[in-house]
Amino acid sequence: MPLTASLIRNVQWPLMERFKQNQTRTYIQQLLEAQYLSPADLQKRQSAKLKQLLDHAVQNVPAYTEFADEWRTTAEEPEQFMQRMPLLDKRHFRESADRYLSAGANPAELIANRTGGSTGEPTRFFLDRPTVERYEAARWLGLSWYGIQIGDPSVMIWGSPIELNQREALRYQLKERWLKNRLIISAYELEEKRIAEHLRTIRRFRPAYLYGYASAFALFAELMLQKGLSLDIPLKAVISTAETLHEHQRKVITEAFGAPVVNEYGARDGGIIAYQCPAGRMHAFSENCFLEVVDPVSGKQVPIGEAGALLVTDLYNRVMPRLRYQLGDMLALSAENCSCGINYPVLKEIDGRVDDMFVSTNGTFVHGHFINHIIRSLDGFRTFQLVQHAPDRLTLRLVKHDEKFQPEDELTVLAGIRSALGGDVSIAVHYVEQIPPTASGKTRYAIRECPLTGSCPQE
Ligand SMILES: [Zn+2]
Repeated sequence: MPLTASLIRNVQWPLMERFKQNQTRTYIQQLLEAQYLSPADLQKRQSAKLKQLLDHAVQNVPAYTEFADEWRTTAEEPEQFMQRMPLLDKRHFRESADRYLSAGANPAELIANRTGGSTGEPTRFFLDRPTVERYEAARWLGLSWYGIQIGDPSVMIWGSPIELNQREALRYQLKERWLKNRLIISAYELEEKRIAEHLRTIRRFRPAYLYGYASAFALFAELMLQKGLSLDIPLKAVISTAETLHEHQRKVITEAFGAPVVNEYGARDGGIIAYQCPAGRMHAFSENCFLEVVDPVSGKQVPIGEAGALLVTDLYNRVMPRLRYQLGDMLALSAENCSCGINYPVLKEIDGRVDDMFVSTNGTFVHGHFINHIIRSLDGFRTFQLVQHAPDRLTLRLVKHDEKFQPEDELTVLAGIRSALGGDVSIAVHYVEQIPPTASGKTRYAIRECPLTGSCPQE
């Protein structure tokens, strides 16, 4: 075992537990034991936690006190009762966040967090230390399914902290290197000419696993394959996080790195929600969160197996409970069991973000994947971005594959978009060198700027 991994595992963590009362390892152990419980037992435990959370919220959280009498007198199970509670969308939460702070919680003692705002305004919220540790425990449990342990070296491809000055940046890198055994490569520096250098850096560091954005890994992998480069060290896994992992991305990343590509599903404002197991299924950490799936327009629950908008209720955060928080993702729950032996409930599919859905001129919803399918079926384009400004007005940015591009490819793409979104939509086509990542370092393929209701006014 390399020295740093051993120090982190055997010295640093026990010290953190002793002096900072950090309980992450206890939580990992609890999650590990729970994963083998029967689905019925897991559900019972989740239900009991949900009940405690509702007890707390209706008593202490201004946004929920109006439900106190109803909750006290109801004969319903907590899962049913939840359906009476309002959906919490990000905008509403941003505008009235103070009403979600528990009586007695002192913001000065809490952990302030915020979303990156890559898909809109940042959302600010508070957490307590144990909640953050439970999220971390969920990630470590997921990683343990691949033989990865606390302290193992990793390379992260990430939106780098560009706002830091040079000295802060150095301190940040040192902390990453020696306290976390982690090396960071900026997602902004994945240019063609630097790929060989990045590979040398990774090789020297000898990580057990890589961790980062799906789009950044996909770009890295494509450049490796184009140049015939390989990493030449064994990896336990490549962990893709913070973005939808598309099938074509998984394929190219697996091919380039020769390691399993693992989907971590989480969000800064939702915690670590699910992890992909070695059998390929996504397991939701039902010990930490309660998930519901609703129709994105009506807000009504959809039957298990059907895709809709995800609502997350964190079962532990008592300082600022957010019930039925609409994270912005589309997915389906599943009643199936997985062959891997882990009994955490299975998520059927994670379909991307509600923001990735387009709306056609006749009001139907079309997933952003459709354009992906059209473009991937042609060889002429490396990548693309489609922006829907209004149902009938779009901008398409295309990055050409110079050797393979045929002028008729553009017509094929435009015809595909029109068949899905409406024959009379106007599409401004721009050929660009690359699709720039957003401020957080993520690259988005599909962006909708008008509401999903299908009734947005024409400009
Ligand atoms: Zn499984």
